[in-house]
Amino acid sequence: MDRYLVFGHPVRHSKSPFIHTLFARQTQQELEYGLAEPAVDEFAQALRTFFAQGGKGCNVTVPFKEQAFTLVDRLSPRAKRAGAVNTIKLTDDGVLLGDNTDGAGLVADLKSHGVTLGDSRILLLGAGGAARGALAPLLAELPSELVIANRTHAKAQQLAAEFCDLGPVTAQTYEQLAGPFDLVINSTSASLQGELPPLAPALIHTDIAIYDMMYGASDTAFISWAKQHGARQTMDGLGMLVEQAAEAFTVWRGIRPGTKQVLRELKRNLGVI
Ligand code: NDP
Repeated sequence: MDRYLVFGHPVRHSKSPFIHTLFARQTQQELEYGLAEPAVDEFAQALRTFFAQGGKGCNVTVPFKEQAFTLVDRLSPRAKRAGAVNTIKLTDDGVLLGDNTDGAGLVADLKSHGVTLGDSRILLLGAGGAARGALAPLLAELPSELVIANRTHAKAQQLAAEFCDLGPVTAQTYEQLAGPFDLVINSTSASLQGELPPLAPALIHTDIAIYDMMYGASDTAFISWAKQHGARQTMDGLGMLVEQAAEAFTVWRGIRPGTKQVLRELKRNLGVI
């Protein structure tokens, strides 16, 4: 049977085996999908061993995405732009192809919630790996403006400079931000510690869409905060997780699974519904 897995550290909490098993059942593909948690300095060897032993493809998550970027034979254009790899496929001619499906997953999830990206003013909080992966797919939707704000301003400036050939992207400090924005995407890891990015409450209004890439059984700190300040449309990153997985599955198997039912199952599994 064709073997796939996700590499990460820690990875025991990963929902990817659950999601890909449901995709395989739904599309009647014969495959198994597992977990691998190599020590941080043993990822390269573990990856080589997996493919030498017949593995067909894998996902890569924290903290290995940047290292995976350097270990594959070939990169997709979107992985090259993102500077990170979250999906690897062994092609029929034996080449390890590195791809990045995170940004496509984010955009697909935003669209599935009916969020308009074209001609909109987007604020992206954070300038780490997730922000980097999101920038090209977001700019491809032709927003009127995309502003990046990050705690370490120099990193936001660096990202804006790298992506300004793709569209109207600028960097501003949190203090400089002036609304109104149509959409705020929180790609910081602040919610992981229950913390908030230092965003002025005045930037939140009733017609704004709020997206937190984090997810959990209850509202993230950022989503709770945005609701308190009047935001009516809030979304967490669970849909992005399922959509990026669907994109990876399509890369591997050449068939696109449906995501709605799988997202519902995942929410039930997490106790969200
Ligand atoms: P990184 O570590 O690469 O980047 C973290 C970013 O968060 C940096 O910009 C950092 O700022 C900022 N940050 C951290 N703490 C705070 C804080 N207290 N206040 C303000 N800013 C803060 O992480 P990733 O980009 O890889 O991931 C970010 C988030 O996205 C994580 O929560 C991750 O779980 C989520 N994610 C979700 C996915 C999904 O499918 N739903 C996919 C990928 C990621 P600074 O530069 O100043 O350190």
